[in-house]
Amino acid sequence: MKQRIVCLAACAATVMVTATAVFSFGFFAQRNLKDSPLTSSLCSGALSLADLPETPICPVLYYGEQRIGRVEEDFDQAEFLTILKGELGESRTPRKEFSLRQERSDETPLNFDRCLRTASNAVQSEYTDARGLYINGTLIAAARDDGTLQEALDAFLDAFAELKESEGQAVLKNSVLGSCTVPEEDLLSCEEIEAVLAVCCSEEKFDFFVKDEKVVTFLENHQVPQLSPVIVEQVSESYEETVPFETVIVEDKSLYVGARVVEAEGHPGTKRVTVLITYEDGQETSREVFLEEILVPPSNEVIREGMLPPGAATGEFIWTTSEGYISSLYGYRDLFGETKLHAGIDIAVPTGTPLYAGDGGAVIHAGDAGNGYGIYVVIDHGNGIVTYYGHMSKVAVKEGDKLCKGDLVGYSGATGRVTGPHVHYEFRVNGKSVNPKKYLSDR
Ligand SMILES: [Zn+2]
Repeated sequence: MKQRIVCLAACAATVMVTATAVFSFGFFAQRNLKDSPLTSSLCSGALSLADLPETPICPVLYYGEQRIGRVEEDFDQAEFLTILKGELGESRTPRKEFSLRQERSDETPLNFDRCLRTASNAVQSEYTDARGLYINGTLIAAARDDGTLQEALDAFLDAFAELKESEGQAVLKNSVLGSCTVPEEDLLSCEEIEAVLAVCCSEEKFDFFVKDEKVVTFLENHQVPQLSPVIVEQVSESYEETVPFETVIVEDKSLYVGARVVEAEGHPGTKRVTVLITYEDGQETSREVFLEEILVPPSNEVIREGMLPPGAATGEFIWTTSEGYISSLYGYRDLFGETKLHAGIDIAVPTGTPLYAGDGGAVIHAGDAGNGYGIYVVIDHGNGIVTYYGHMSKVAVKEGDKLCKGDLVGYSGATGRVTGPHVHYEFRVNGKSVNPKKYLSDR
């Protein structure tokens, strides 16, 4: 702007100089030729402006009716406009025509850059920074502040929902408020924005009746998009659901590896679930749980899992068979004509009855040793206790086998020094026989 003032001042100065020159020449002529009959004609001829050196006719650039300034003779208007639009960007396009007029001017032509700056300022001065309502990235309307836009949007959407006789909330999806640059006259009031939104959302857009002159002009100058608000309704629903129980595993060092004992059975519980269902124009679009109330808590299943490796003793013994009956207890008695210690318990069972390990351990003997036990098995439980299983018909293990409590060791029979089929079940602690009843439950 300052440059423009300087330019005008320079023009005025030029005019003054010219006027002074004319006046001086006239004065001189009058004074020297006052007595001449030609004086009057000479004077009038000397003062004629038409006879002065002419101000050149040259191209001057205008933006609408705004004079930008003299330009060079070879000024390329097309190139100038391309560069100017590139610099201004899409948000500030020239709102008037640029034109070249032929005028008398002896001002210095603007160089291209100066011309560009002056023209750019002229265009930019017609725009203002504002806040805009964007929907799907398209600027729909602008106002001085967000409050105006939001108020207009809310009022319009309320009216839209009412028009649709809906209980729900009307929503224009993907709408955001953001900054924008618009011509001053495009800034709209709350009511005007409502009217623009009504036109955008009208099914018969072009027949829409708008009274407001400013809105009519705005709509004539802007290609507004067709928008469709959706009616959003939210409904809550409740229902009961099963709550699954969890399984808790407890490691048990008294059970062999691989053994699983259900200590407590699991029971599922129930809960009441409340969901919030969102409908858009009557179609369900989402469903989210917002409340869960436990009505009956589930009870967990508890399983004990064995930790004991095969061959390890539990420390507690079982009878080698639950069949038959005790035919002879531990103790001194007369047998085969002499009084001897009967070092075990005899259980009378038919030949072929399966016999099981009293506790976990390693097999240290399996077979007949010709010592009266017949075919027999000995298990070392590793804790100083060794068990014997005598008079078998057949063994099911071999020396070195690692047994778990209850594993099959063989079958009863009547081998060795016997009077009938039975199993001789003997316990030795640190090499000395003890009464098996010390380690066994009653039967
Ligand atoms: Zn015996």
